[in-house]
Amino acid sequence: MTWSFSIGTFLGSELRVHATFFLLLLWVGAVAYVAVGPVAALVNIGFILVLFACVVAHEYGHALMARRYGIATPDITLLPIGGMARLERMPEKPGQEIAVALAGPAVNVLIFLILVVVFRVDIDVDTLTQIEDPREGFMARVAVVNLFLVLFNMLPAFPMDGGRVFRAVLSIWMPRVRATQVAATAGQVMAFVFGFLGLFTVNPLLILIAVFIFIAAGAESSFVAMQDFGRHTGVREAMITRFETLQEDASLNEAAAALIRTTQHEFPVIDHRGRMVGILTRRALYAALGEEEGRRMRPITPHVDRDVPTVPLNAPLEAAMEAMAKKQSPAVGVLSPSGGLIGYVTHENIGELMVVSGRA
Ligand SMILES: [Zn+2]
Repeated sequence: MTWSFSIGTFLGSELRVHATFFLLLLWVGAVAYVAVGPVAALVNIGFILVLFACVVAHEYGHALMARRYGIATPDITLLPIGGMARLERMPEKPGQEIAVALAGPAVNVLIFLILVVVFRVDIDVDTLTQIEDPREGFMARVAVVNLFLVLFNMLPAFPMDGGRVFRAVLSIWMPRVRATQVAATAGQVMAFVFGFLGLFTVNPLLILIAVFIFIAAGAESSFVAMQDFGRHTGVREAMITRFETLQEDASLNEAAAALIRTTQHEFPVIDHRGRMVGILTRRALYAALGEEEGRRMRPITPHVDRDVPTVPLNAPLEAAMEAMAKKQSPAVGVLSPSGGLIGYVTHENIGELMVVSGRA
């Protein structure tokens, strides 16, 4: 995630903080400073830091449970609206998905119980309703906030943990794609409710959370639909087979002519034996033409993106999609059994295929 920086690697996951997190600290501090004074400002900033330590512990709950199923979590990012553990992939067995989803809130239940049972922190109705009041006991507020984290995360809607449990339970009776759609729709309905509450109570954080939930729920739904489509479709059905290639030593002039003559935005670049060596994108070509003004007889060679993945002809489309995502590549080449380039797949033509097959 851009605008975030690393503060170290703990328990196998890199912990990152998003720059906007400091805006939250500043805001919380400023509000308390104006309302009560400098001590309250420090107490409230301290409170937010402890709160986010609980959020981080929650995310590590997910990460450590996922590791038990052989799934790594490369990084955990702290945002003003919560934490985000980026798991390498999600477990698809319902039981495992439920275990990973529950491991986060379970950590907050544990923190709450330790505070109440071991440290004898007492909580009354006042603490529950005046969570942001700096005069309330610090530890009581920490305990209550952990309770809120559990309740909020267990809402049965995407992208909350409760949404994952909900989807996993639904997927026992219905296909995973359908189960995801139901949980995502629940998430979007809930986002509207939060949005309205945020507008009526003039709570910018709540509005921000609503927008985040709405977008994340939609993204999860289309990701799972696309993943399912990729599994049941061969790369053979999705690939572009009518296209022009460029020779490795073609000139910028020749590439420019090919760009005009065709509707292609990516040109596979091949060597003399017909093997793909990379791709020349329209964007790279534009940049090259600008740089090499007046020297357009020069070869395209330095402008070719050589880190382009390839898949065999009989691969599922999912393999092509994963390869593109992993290398952040605009395209993936499709190779014949003898290793020659016979087609390629782009994000755009996967989108087209989903539309024409009635899946988008
Ligand atoms: Zn969680």
